[in-house]
Amino acid sequence: MTAAVFADGVFRAGRSTAVGGVVNPSDGSVIDSFSLASAADVDDAVSAARAAFPQWSALPPAERSAALLRLAARLEERADEYALVETRQAGKPIRLTTGFDVPGSIDNVAFFAGAARNLDGKASAEWDGDHTSVIRREPIGVIGSIAPWNYPLQMAMWKILPAIAAGNTIVLKPAEITPLTSLMLAEDCIAAGIPAGVVNVVVGTGPEAGEALVSHPHVAMVSFTGSTGVGKRVMNLATETVKRVHLELGGKAPFVVFDDADLEAAVHGAVAGSLINSGQDCTAATRAYVQRPLYEAFVAGVADLFAGVRLGPTEDPDTDLGPLVSQRQAERVAGFVERASRDGARVVVGGRAPDGPLAHGAYYEPTVIVEAGQDSEIVRDEVFGPVLAILPFDSDDDGLRLANDTVYGLAASAWTRDIFRGLRAQREIRAGTVWINDHIPIVSEMPHGGFGQSGFGKDMSTYSFDEYTHVKHVSFDLTGRARKPWHRTIFTGPT
Ligand code: NAD
Repeated sequence: MTAAVFADGVFRAGRSTAVGGVVNPSDGSVIDSFSLASAADVDDAVSAARAAFPQWSALPPAERSAALLRLAARLEERADEYALVETRQAGKPIRLTTGFDVPGSIDNVAFFAGAARNLDGKASAEWDGDHTSVIRREPIGVIGSIAPWNYPLQMAMWKILPAIAAGNTIVLKPAEITPLTSLMLAEDCIAAGIPAGVVNVVVGTGPEAGEALVSHPHVAMVSFTGSTGVGKRVMNLATETVKRVHLELGGKAPFVVFDDADLEAAVHGAVAGSLINSGQDCTAATRAYVQRPLYEAFVAGVADLFAGVRLGPTEDPDTDLGPLVSQRQAERVAGFVERASRDGARVVVGGRAPDGPLAHGAYYEPTVIVEAGQDSEIVRDEVFGPVLAILPFDSDDDGLRLANDTVYGLAASAWTRDIFRGLRAQREIRAGTVWINDHIPIVSEMPHGGFGQSGFGKDMSTYSFDEYTHVKHVSFDLTGRARKPWHRTIFTGPT
C-alpha cells in the first residue's frame, strides 16, 4: 500500500477521507489504492521543507552538486525499475520509458548537478563610479510544485531539480493517478544524501492538496504544469499571498509543411511527433498544415503509417503505442473525434477504440482527421490523444498565419529545404520552441516553456534559475564620505 505523504524523509499515510488509486491503463488492473493527502498533510510537508531550507540553501553549491551526482548514479542503478513502474502506472510502452523517460530524467539530474555551480549574474562593477554593485542570486524558499500525469517522472524532475539545485526546498504534488515514480524519487533523494525535508511529496487531489499547497502562506513560489484551465485557477489562488508563479500549460502545436519539404521526412516526423506518448504530450504535433501541392500525398503517407502502428501491451518491447492514461482520457479523446465527425470532418484512419484483447485497456487507434475547419474544436482545443488533424494551405503567409491562429504557444515545427523559409518560420511562429525539420527533441541545456495561454517561465536549462532564484542587488559605498555629492540633490544641508 502506497503511503501518500513523504515529509521530512519519512513515508506516512495520507489523512484525507478521499481514497486514491493507481490503475494500469493497459489492462485496467488496480496497482494500488491508498488514502490521499489532506491539507494537514500539506502543512506538515511545508513545515519540513521550511525547516530544511536554512541549511540546504547555505550549502556551498559544490555540495548540492555532489548530492545530485549521487542521485544520478542511484537512478542509473534503478533505471529498469523506474522504467517498469512508469510503464505500469502511466500506460507507456516500455520502449518509451527505457529509451526516453528514464534516460532523459537521469540526464536532467546530471545537468543540474553542473548547473548548480553556474548561477549567472551581471558583472560586479562601479556602475556610477562611487559604489561597487554585486548581484546575488538567492533561493526563494519553499517551492510548491504541482505536476501532471503524462510524464510523471520527467515532470517531477523538471520541478525538483532546478528548485533544489538553486538552494530551495520543495513540496511536490504529483498527479494522484501516477504518483509512484515521484515517491521512489523522493526516497532516492534521501539515499543520495539530500537531507530530509529538502524534497517532500504529497499525493492528493487538486482541489484538496493542490489548493492547500498553492494557498499556503509559507510556500514562496508555485510551479505548476498542467492544463490551462487549472493553471488559471492556480494563478488566481496565488494572488492572495502574492506568490511567484511559474506556469507550464497546455499546447496545440502546429506542424507546417511547405511544398519544398522532404515529404518522407515530414510524414515520419508527423507520425512520431503526434503519437509520442499516445499524443499525451503538450508539445505533440496536433495540427498539420500542408501546402497544397503536398497535401494529398502527406495525408496518404501519414494514414498509411498510422494504420501500421502496433498497439499492444505496454510491457511488450514490440509495442509502438500504448493506451491513454485512463479510461476517462480515452473517452475524452473519443468524444473529440465523434464531435469532429458530426461537425463535418472526415476520419481517414482510426477513430475508434480497438476491440479484441486490448478492449480492457484505455486504447484508442491513431487517428487522422481531414476537412475540419480552422475554427472547429478539434483544431483549436487540446485533445491530448493520438489524433492529428491535417489541413491544407496555399501561400506561405497563410501557413504561418494558421500556425499562429491559436491561444496556445508552446511548440511548433516547420518543414522545408529552403533556408529562407526556415528562417522566416522560426522567426514568425510564436511558440516557446520551434523545430525546423523535426518535432519533439528536447535537451537539458535548452529551455522549455510557453507563450500565450501555454504559460510563462522556463523548465530545464539554466534559464529555469530565473524562476527559482531572487536577483538581489547589493551596493557598497566606496567613498567612505558621510556627505556624498548626490545627497545635495535631495537636501542641500547647512553650508
Ligand atoms: P490538470 O491540469 O488536470 O492537472 C495537473 C495537476 O494539477 C494535477 O496534479 C492535478 O491534481 C492538479 N490540480 C487539479 N486541480 C487543481 C486545483 N484546483 N488546484 C491545484 N492543483 C490542481 O492536467 P493533467 O490532465 O494532469 O495533464 C495534462 C495537461 O498538462 C495538458 O493540458 C498538458 O498540455 C499539460 N502539460 C503541459 C506541459 C508543459 O510543459 N507546458 C507539460 C506536460 C503537461
